[in-house]
Amino acid sequence: AESPRTNFIRQIAAADLASGKHERVATRFPPEPNGYLHIGHAKSIVLNFGLAQDFGGTCNLRFDDTNPHKENVEFVESIKEDVRWLGFDWGDRLYFASDYFEKLYDFAVELINKGLAYVCELSADEMRAYRGTLTEPGKDSPYRNRSVEENLSLFTRMRAGEFPDGSRTLRARIDMASPNINLRDPVLYRIKHGVVHHQTGTTWCLYPTYDYTHPISDALEGITHSLCTLEFEDHRPLYDWCVGNVSVPSKPRQIEFSRLNLEYSVMSKRRLTELVSESHVHGWDDPRMPTIAGLRRRGYTPASIREFCHRIGITKSDNLVEMAMLESAIRDDLDAHAPRRMAVLRPLKVVLTNYPEGQAEEVEARNHPKDESMGARRLPFGREIYIDRSDFEEVPPKGFKRLVPDGEVRLRNAYVIRCDEVIKDAAGEVTELRASIDMDTLGKNPEGRKVKGVIHWVSAAHAVPAEVRLYDRLFQAVMPGAGGADYRDDINPASLQVLTDCVLEPSLRDAAVGERFQFEREGYFVVDRDATPERPVFNLTVGLRDTWGK
Ligand code: ATP
Ligand code: MG
Ligand code: MG
Repeated sequence: AESPRTNFIRQIAAADLASGKHERVATRFPPEPNGYLHIGHAKSIVLNFGLAQDFGGTCNLRFDDTNPHKENVEFVESIKEDVRWLGFDWGDRLYFASDYFEKLYDFAVELINKGLAYVCELSADEMRAYRGTLTEPGKDSPYRNRSVEENLSLFTRMRAGEFPDGSRTLRARIDMASPNINLRDPVLYRIKHGVVHHQTGTTWCLYPTYDYTHPISDALEGITHSLCTLEFEDHRPLYDWCVGNVSVPSKPRQIEFSRLNLEYSVMSKRRLTELVSESHVHGWDDPRMPTIAGLRRRGYTPASIREFCHRIGITKSDNLVEMAMLESAIRDDLDAHAPRRMAVLRPLKVVLTNYPEGQAEEVEARNHPKDESMGARRLPFGREIYIDRSDFEEVPPKGFKRLVPDGEVRLRNAYVIRCDEVIKDAAGEVTELRASIDMDTLGKNPEGRKVKGVIHWVSAAHAVPAEVRLYDRLFQAVMPGAGGADYRDDINPASLQVLTDCVLEPSLRDAAVGERFQFEREGYFVVDRDATPERPVFNLTVGLRDTWGK
């Protein structure tokens, strides 16, 4: 079962309701549509939508779309799909920051009228030089003391498109000597000609900055608790300045929490975009990607991702979460819910020489060892079967409990067999085994001897040929690119292994895209969208046990 833990943000919300500060909890999830959502976003989604659910409140989905050149409708649609898939519903609470462009403009005029904003003509480089440093105060812009009339006139002309990109900005008039650099007259508006915004088209050549747009959008929507990641802590005074100086209907409170960082992974959208555009992976939903779409294609369930987010919790300290945490969440889910099947990934044929030619039968196999309600199925059995190559060793290492020359092994759900003969090709490679079957061992131990090993198998006459894709970590380094190196140098060249000669038990022929199974003794697998009725394709979701760091 899912186990939402309490955390300091839930406690704040509960206290605000108890004290009467708020009558309801209103949160929002505010993605920028400049890429696909990743597992870090899931943390924020589960927090924001979860908080609203817990307190009977609301959570808005708001696209923070103030950087039109990096954004598009494909990203908007993928984000909606992924939020829904994760199990959350924004109902009719879908918003775009661009819905507020007109209002934001009016609020900027209000700031100008109050002497709290001015049109600046410093170039980006000059502005940087004027800004000062952590130890040096900044210098006032020479344009800082323009009259209200002049500012209004210039701002109107900026909107009308009279000035080229970069020639003018609208800046808040706060304090160039503030110890907080975010308060040294931050830019509120910049000019961008020639971009077609995915929502507003070419209506605007003037775009508000995130730091100005975000607090006002929150206030317009009546957000009570505006949750964001720690790097915005220093922006909070600016957030409060914005909602404090324009005539918005409410005063939301910004609360910061630590972002999710995951071992062997990158999470910034810039890097994820590069992995896709430079073809290091096969698209945003490549099963090696930490995107929601990638995890979905990898076989993760929405419940497992939510559970992972609950387990990592919400704190104020940055840390690096182990990949094993993510994998144990899906492993626990699939262990409980995935039906068991038999699939041989590296087939080796075994001929059962004493099994009558032309005879066939079916054996019964339970779909789950711990869950009777999942039922059973019939497995065809015959004279020729496939076992996995790794389950036979001519010269077995110590402790090897599977098939060896003249040794016995149990076929799962079926009989005990003995290896009598090893057939090899000219190069000395094992191509086939001849074995004898003990027909008196179905569902019971053989007479007078113990057989320890159990291996899986597929009837050769009924085997369904398939492709199976095995995934390993996308990066070899715990923190790719740490210490200033290029994170791309840490890409694992062996992150994908495609096995093309696998054979499956016949019941897997009709598995639907997205269906998940445990392949006994191998791991958990999901049907990939590349599968066809003629040729199933499976992705490895996760192995049966934790192998990280091994
Ligand atoms: P990136 O740095 O990857 O571009 P972003 O924060 O700019 O991420 P947004 O689309 O603006 O991406 O993020 C939407 C919301 O998701 C924000 O509220 C942000 O705080 C949250 N978020 C993004 N990345 C993480 C993360 N790694 N952990 C937790 N929350 C995150
Ligand atoms: Mg952002
Ligand atoms: Mg970003």
